[in-house]
Amino acid sequence: MDKYLRRKDSSSRTDDDEPSTSVTKKLKKVVKRKYDEDYIKYGFLWCGDETAPRLQRIICSDQLSNESMVPSKLKLHLYSSHPSCANKDKQYFKVLRTKKNRRNL
Ligand SMILES: [Zn+2]
Repeated sequence: MDKYLRRKDSSSRTDDDEPSTSVTKKLKKVVKRKYDEDYIKYGFLWCGDETAPRLQRIICSDQLSNESMVPSKLKLHLYSSHPSCANKDKQYFKVLRTKKNRRNL
């Protein structure tokens, strides 16, 4: 009779015994992206903090977070939202930037 009770006890699973591998740090390394002067060819300027810059679109004045500072995303936005500007070169956006800065002054 005693045996039966013990067996029942030992058969109960102990799920709270976590393997040590799951205790590894889940800290995500935050990579701050730097603005590349080349991004202007996609129609983007940087604004904000130099160590964690954000992007500002020259064309529509929207701001993008630091995490969105990925060339492929910038390109995608330009092509999908501003197809008329997709074939413009850096010089075009630089002129736009100058005009924009004058407007802001
Ligand atoms: Zn836009």
